[in-house]
This record gives sequence, C-alpha cells and structure tokens, in this order.
Amino acid sequence: HAKSRGRNNAQAFSPVLEQQVLRRVDLQSQLQGALLRNEISMVLQPKISLADSRIVGAEALMRWTTASGQHVSPMDFIPVAEQTGLIVELGDWILQQALEWLASQDDRQLSVAVNLSARQLEDPQLPQRLLSWLSLRNLEPQRLELEVTESMLMSNREQASHFLEQVRNFGVRVAVDDFGTGYSSLNYLRWLPIDVLKIDRSFIHDLNRADDARAIARSIMNLAENLRLQVVAEGIEDPEAAAFLIDMGCPLGQGFWYSPPLSIAAFAERLSIPIPSIMRPAAG
Ligand code: C2E
Ligand code: MG
Ligand code: MG
Ligand code: MG
Repeated sequence: HAKSRGRNNAQAFSPVLEQQVLRRVDLQSQLQGALLRNEISMVLQPKISLADSRIVGAEALMRWTTASGQHVSPMDFIPVAEQTGLIVELGDWILQQALEWLASQDDRQLSVAVNLSARQLEDPQLPQRLLSWLSLRNLEPQRLELEVTESMLMSNREQASHFLEQVRNFGVRVAVDDFGTGYSSLNYLRWLPIDVLKIDRSFIHDLNRADDARAIARSIMNLAENLRLQVVAEGIEDPEAAAFLIDMGCPLGQGFWYSPPLSIAAFAERLSIPIPSIMRPAAG
C-alpha cells in the first residue's frame, strides 16, 4: 500500500494539494498562542453616509502578523481558527476590542459592525457574554451590528435563528454580509430577525461596467426598502461606483475609495479631519 511505496510516491496527493495541507497544518500550529503573543490586532474600516461622505461607524476586521512579520489574511486563518476551535477565543477578543473602541468614542452616534463565524452562532453562552460586555461599558446594544453570511444561516437554521433572536431581543442589530452571493432562497428574510443587507462587493465592483450588476444592486436596494431593512454597499473602489450608488439612493457604504481598514489611531485621525472635498457628492 501507499506507505510501503515510500514518501516520494504519494500519488493521491497533487503537489498543490500537498502544499495546501502543509500550509494549513503550519497555520494551525502558528495560530495557537498568537493572541497571547500579541500578533492579532483589529483594524476598522469606516462606514460612510454616502449622501454627505460622513463617517457613521466602522467594520472591525481581524489582522494577524506572525512573529516573523508575515501577514496572514483572515480568509486563510479564520477557517483554520474555526476548525481548531480557536475562533471562540478570537471571536470573543475582537468583539470586546470593538466594544472597547466604541466606548472610547465621544460621538455616541457611531456604531461598530463585527463579523461572526459559524462556530460562534453555535455558542449558547455568547449572547449572554455579549450582553454583559455591552452593559459593562454602558453601550446601547443598537450600536453593535453582527455580520453573518447566508451560508452560515442556512447550514444551521435552528441554532442560527435561536442565537439571532436572543441578541436581537437585547437590541443588537443583525446584518447579512456578502448579500447576493449565497445559494439560498430569500425565504429566510421572513423568519430571521435581520436588520441590514450588505450588498456584496462583486456587484459594486461592476456597477459602471455591467448592466446586470447594476440591475442586481438596484433590486437588492428595492428589496431592502420594501422589507424595511437598511442597506450597505461594500467594496466601493472608485468615484464612479460611489456616484451610481448615491444616484440610486443607497444610504451607506464602505470601500477603498473612501478608506481602507485603519488602525485605531489612524481612524481617530481620519475622524478629526474635514471630509475631503473630492469625496463630497457633486452639487445639484
Ligand atoms: P468581509 O466581512 O466581507 O469584509 C470585507 C473585506 O473586504 C475586508 O477584507 C476588507 O478589507 C475588504 N475591502 C474593504 N473595502 C474594499 C474594497 O473597496 N475593495 C476590495 N476588493 N476589498 C475591500 P479582509 O479584512 O481581508 O477580510 C476578509 C474576510 O475575512 C471578511 O470579509 C470576513 O468574512 C473575514 N473576517 C475578517 N475579520 C474577521 C473577524 O474578526 N471575524 C470573522 N469571523 N471573520 C472575519
Ligand atoms: Mg463583513
Ligand atoms: Mg464576512
Ligand atoms: Mg462582505
């Protein structure tokens, strides 16, 4: 069998697959203890009121820089953290960081959005911990938004709806991230307590290039309006996309055109400077 043929003859493994497995194992061992070693940090991407280019809040995003200075994308390490269970610690950590940041802000209108992962929705104690972190800092729950994806909602309906109903009862808001990319029906919008749809950045990216992307973005906005949900456009990369969205009446957005994710210090600086005139919507 395979073992007796020797280590250089692992025929079932393509080199690419083998590399992926090695990388995963590697990431797994490195991620262990990363929090204690201070390798994990939080960045904040401004959320913008498009009509006047004002910052109204932030999305908290996790960053990992290894001891050797290597930046690892959350798209690579979050799945690893999910598999190993480390996501519970990491998820608690960013939630608390985000709330601590929010509590430190003078502007009590600001809100913060935090991404959840599937495992967190299955944590029966998390809603209660969340509530205590909010009240500890005297924060109105409405200022926290939790982002979940359609696939997370679909893969575990029972636990997802139980979780969301609890946090929603406290007043925490719920957003569907990457909306329009899941293979799900829209039926869940009727039975889950959802407050916000975040239009996936693939549609926003193509706004000024493709009629179909424009049609889909517009339809999502109509859907949101009819269901009385808020709508946020993500991935606004150029002024043309911003102009389209403002034209369509999209209230909120985020993207590199306005600002990349920032450190806490850079965010504070950005809040303190006047809105760059180039970003103000054209008069009239
Ligand atoms: P997401 O929640 O959809 O976050 C938006 C991603 O788009 C972020 O990537 C952000 O940096 C990026 N982005 C922002 N503006 C633009 C733009 O104009 N153009 C383009 N092309 N991209 C833009 P990031 O930070 O690498 O995060 C990737 C994904 O990893 C996130 O997607 C989210 O699903 C996950 N993630 C990040 N932080 C966390 C976390 O703390 N917890 C969990 N569970 N997942 C996280
Ligand atoms: Mg998100
Ligand atoms: Mg997400
Ligand atoms: Mg997204």
